[in-house]
Amino acid sequence: MYTFTIEGFCDWCQKPNYVTKHQYVDGKCHFSCEGCVNYAAMDVRQFNQAELEYRDSLCKS
Ligand SMILES: [Zn+2]
Repeated sequence: MYTFTIEGFCDWCQKPNYVTKHQYVDGKCHFSCEGCVNYAAMDVRQFNQAELEYRDSLCKS
C-alpha cells in the first residue's frame, strides 16, 4: 500500500505532485505520483531483481 504524502516531483512523469518513495537495493530512491505508481513499482522491482542477480553472480564466481 502506497501513501502519497510527500510533496515533490514524480520521477516518471516529471510533474509536481504528491508522491510516494521507492527504495532501490543500491540505496538510491525515486518518487512517483499516484498515476505512475504501478509502472514505477514494476520498474523498481525489475531493477532490484537485476541488481540482486548481478550480486549473486559475483558471489558465485
Ligand atoms: Zn507520475
